[in-house]
Amino acid sequence: MSLAFSYFVKILTYEATKFGTRIIFIDRFYPSSQICHKCGYKNEAVKDLRVREWRCPHCGAEHDRDRNAAKNILRVGVATHLQESQ
Ligand SMILES: [Zn+2]
Repeated sequence: MSLAFSYFVKILTYEATKFGTRIIFIDRFYPSSQICHKCGYKNEAVKDLRVREWRCPHCGAEHDRDRNAAKNILRVGVATHLQESQ
């Protein structure tokens, strides 16, 4: 973890504690930008970071790389939270 990112996480953790919540980390190797958030299909053809938009070959959903990744990260974070809350 870079120093700048470490500092960002430190501030985020401080703020989360202040507001009575917490930070959930997901696996850094989770392929968030390759998995279709609509159907779960893993599209390894979009591994290349230059691919900014893609269509899921399984369900046909159109994806913006970053928005798709954000939705996957949110889903994993919520699932992790629910799993840890049981
Ligand atoms: Zn799909």
